[in-house]
Amino acid sequence: MLMQYDLAQLGRHGRAEEHLDRTFDASAFGTPGEPEEYRVAAPVHLLLDIYKERDALKVTGRVETRLGLECGRCLEPFEIPIGSAFELHYVPQTDNSGEGERQIDEDDLTTAFYRDNTLDLGELMREQFQLALPMKPLCADDCKGLCADCGANLNTTTCGCTPKWEDPRLVALKTLLNRDKEIS
Ligand SMILES: [Zn+2]
Ligand SMILES: [Zn+2]
Repeated sequence: MLMQYDLAQLGRHGRAEEHLDRTFDASAFGTPGEPEEYRVAAPVHLLLDIYKERDALKVTGRVETRLGLECGRCLEPFEIPIGSAFELHYVPQTDNSGEGERQIDEDDLTTAFYRDNTLDLGELMREQFQLALPMKPLCADDCKGLCADCGANLNTTTCGCTPKWEDPRLVALKTLLNRDKEIS
């Protein structure tokens, strides 16, 4: 399914608005050869209201899907549901400065550009996915991670190497011995 919305449908002048309700296959978001931090793991439901005033757009809506991530501790894949509401503003991007050019305040992060009288819904949704990603993806808050010695997943197994308690005095001694080794 096309992820471009042709703004010509809204007409050239005056005010116009459009409501979109679309569902995209997860496979439509695949980017072969370009690994992302996430993969889209379920169909993506996009609800969109586009308001056009002359050539400026206000776009409000909501995108829902499930994203597949890799746990930062145990490296196992897991999924999170996302449901992100957004309000975005767009103005046309013009290549030639001068006539019709609109200055945008550098600080105005909520205003984006559209090109060729087209709204790129794919880009819009990918941006929302990025914003919804957790800073540190964890399959569970109490994920035990991998054993530092043997690499076993401590959520599913217990290995012989843990827990291992070392006498702090011995650790200090070992560090000293290792340092001597490195010097000699
Ligand atoms: Zn984990
Ligand atoms: Zn182990």
